[in-house]
Amino acid sequence: MQIQNIAIDGPVASGKTVAGRLVAQKLGWRFLDTGSMYRVVTWVALARQLDFDDEQALVSLATQMDFRLEGEAGERVLADGKDVTDSLRAPEVDRAVSKVAKVAGVRVTMVARQREVALQAPTVVVGRDIGTKVLPDAPVKVFLTASVEERATRRHKELSQKGGSLSYEEVRNDLERRDRIDTEREASPLMAATDAVTLNTDALTIDQVVKRIMEMANDAAS
Ligand code: C5P
Repeated sequence: MQIQNIAIDGPVASGKTVAGRLVAQKLGWRFLDTGSMYRVVTWVALARQLDFDDEQALVSLATQMDFRLEGEAGERVLADGKDVTDSLRAPEVDRAVSKVAKVAGVRVTMVARQREVALQAPTVVVGRDIGTKVLPDAPVKVFLTASVEERATRRHKELSQKGGSLSYEEVRNDLERRDRIDTEREASPLMAATDAVTLNTDALTIDQVVKRIMEMANDAAS
């Protein structure tokens, strides 16, 4: 059987983006990082100094703004024709993105765009609500987890390598706050789909995670 989608969800720094990108490469599929879509709306909202409590303004922005994912694996994000990829992981975007993502009207637009991309061609899709909401019929659903300590260590290392100056505690506090908003929000909260396979990645290398997902894809296709 030909399969079209692999859905990977999980909290901050659970390894889903790195694993998902590698799985897509191995399969020769497209890759869609839905987090970057919420991040680009947040980045433009910050640039335009929108009030983050003004839900209507955020919904209008998400609905009207022109953004595209380009590059072989959709790794470059363009907003109004400008490449903003390198700004999307800035700490101020990290701090504000969950506020944008909890607005139900913003999610309606994002989910529709994500489905459109995912159903055009075989795609690995990563996010928080892919297995539950965006692609509830995906034949392979994975939920990646890891302890807070492990995830904060990974994220801190990644930010430090890029020249960031946040301490481990600051990174961990931000991560826990973001997870809390994502888990407690009313609209499509972060959770594993009932038919997802949960993988705890604390003691797994990225290659082992990729191997496990590839096995699941092969099983689903046979
Ligand atoms: O995956 P990443 O950390 O880049 O996602 C940034 C934020 O976007 C998450 O903390 C979450 O608030 C939101 N998000 C979401 N649903 C998705 C993907 C991301 O709510 N499918």
